[in-house]
Amino acid sequence: MGKLFGTDGVRGIVNVELTPELALHLGLAIGAFFGEGSRVLVGRDVRRGGEMLFKAVTSGLLSSGVKVHYAGMVPTPTLQYAIKHFGYDGGVMITASHNPPKYNGIKVIGPNGVEISRDQEREIEEIFFSEKWRRASVISVPEDVPRQYGVIEAYVNAVLSHVDVEKIRSKNFRVLIDPANSVGALTSPLIAKKLGCKVYTINGHLDGDFPGREPEPTTETLKETAEVAKALRADLAVGHDGDADRAIFIDDLGRIHWGDRSAAVICKYFAKKGLKGKVVTAVSSSIIIEDVLKPYGLEVVWTKVGSVDISHLMLKIGKEVLCGFEENGGFMYPPHVPVRDGGMTLALMLQVLADEGKKLSQLFDELPHYYTLKTKIPMSRSDALKVVEKVAEHFKNERLITIDGVKVLMKDAWVLVRPSGTEPILRIMAEARDEAKLKEIVDTVKKIAYETVGKK
Ligand code: MG
Repeated sequence: MGKLFGTDGVRGIVNVELTPELALHLGLAIGAFFGEGSRVLVGRDVRRGGEMLFKAVTSGLLSSGVKVHYAGMVPTPTLQYAIKHFGYDGGVMITASHNPPKYNGIKVIGPNGVEISRDQEREIEEIFFSEKWRRASVISVPEDVPRQYGVIEAYVNAVLSHVDVEKIRSKNFRVLIDPANSVGALTSPLIAKKLGCKVYTINGHLDGDFPGREPEPTTETLKETAEVAKALRADLAVGHDGDADRAIFIDDLGRIHWGDRSAAVICKYFAKKGLKGKVVTAVSSSIIIEDVLKPYGLEVVWTKVGSVDISHLMLKIGKEVLCGFEENGGFMYPPHVPVRDGGMTLALMLQVLADEGKKLSQLFDELPHYYTLKTKIPMSRSDALKVVEKVAEHFKNERLITIDGVKVLMKDAWVLVRPSGTEPILRIMAEARDEAKLKEIVDTVKKIAYETVGKK
């Protein structure tokens, strides 16, 4: 059977891979999955092709007898919250998240606001490829697609309900928001404003061509934003991706911090407050999170790379879970919705700043410092898997996590070796407290890799 869903929904270049025909068929498959008479909320981000894909998917859903409501342009986490809040049976989000501008995508969300499971994705693929549509009789095809109003208000109010609004308001923070010219512009400035912040925006108008920067927030794409933040003397700046489920923070000194470090700042704050529970993250995250949580007796649960896997593991762990995150800036706060949420993360970081009474730069400087190295070696997936095996064998006396490649945890250092999920490459990520040790570990892994594939 063919494969449609990647790590995060169905993605492709608009009108090349992701055509209206494909979207229509996917709409029919999703319609058969949710069933006639079910209520489904559809939203989209600012990307080109969004309206076309929304209409094509909606046609398929209507043909299946699904009652479609339209949320308009919204961040993915806003749609996810609205599905749960307004009691929908599910939802569809038209977005390609952080991908380059020519891409778009379609993701399917369950009634709890969480992306459907991998098994449910297979179910939709099965219907899609076998064309087992369930077309409704003509009188069951809905007449219209009503607008669901109040989505952004409901979301913003829910986010604010999880923080101490008065306390944050009393601090009069200066905040710069960079929503990458996409839907984060509709929610994050509003959240910060309601929290009493002096709000500045950069790349703040909606534009599907992403004129300001690439939709992925990275240390490179946020360089200019960091300079502006410094010039504005902002207490904090945040950069979102195209659908605002990620938040990458910039401190008061204009330094950009990767998502596992900002998650460590938030988790440490939770731990200091006496909150209990497990923290779920993918093996690609830094072990800083273990360093930070160990003194408080809190456990880190490592999982495969992919936010859907993190969310579903959090659901499985249930009440004992405190929060989850991806190292790319996707922080998940289950009392709200156990999914990545840029707006919720912004509000939580402002809460941390208000309660700690320190500068954001200080909070980051209090974390342990690691030197980081990321590299990749082109090779087939089967070769990459062989390298993973050999690396595990070489480091067999260390602590190993083998759920996705192999992660070797040593004293004050770690290395992750895994085949990429999408390209024929071996990914190597390592961190160490000591620069020489970092080089030694990466050189060892590279040597094993080249010996295995017979190069150099
Ligand atoms: Mg995203």
